[in-house]
Amino acid sequence: MNDDRRKLLTEYLGECWHEVKRPKNEPTVFSKSCIKCKRRITIIRNDPIDRDRTFTTPYDFFALKDTLVERGEWKKFNQFCLNSLDPSVPQWKSETAEDAISAFTDWFLNAPRFCELAGEWLEGKEKP
Ligand SMILES: [Zn+2]
Repeated sequence: MNDDRRKLLTEYLGECWHEVKRPKNEPTVFSKSCIKCKRRITIIRNDPIDRDRTFTTPYDFFALKDTLVERGEWKKFNQFCLNSLDPSVPQWKSETAEDAISAFTDWFLNAPRFCELAGEWLEGKEKP
């Protein structure tokens, strides 16, 4: 997942996408306050180590899921995900509704995939 999408998802959760003013001749390790929320951020080799969600973990998955529900957007997001399915994939052509639901939930309940889908959905939602 790229930083633009991680920033979008982080801000969707109501959290700060921390930004620091980088020092000249940036050392390998330094610590600065976020210019937006003032939290102290440590950066090692150009990488903030304690700021951002990866959106690959169950923790991030559930944070997004809970926020989508709280904002009343869960149903719209589910519809987007259903519309994202490639109908040519054999597993979607199940004989029974139970098999179809089982195939869908197995595909859908995957933290990195779910977070990518939430990012795609939010990016599309922002466009006029
Ligand atoms: Zn911040």
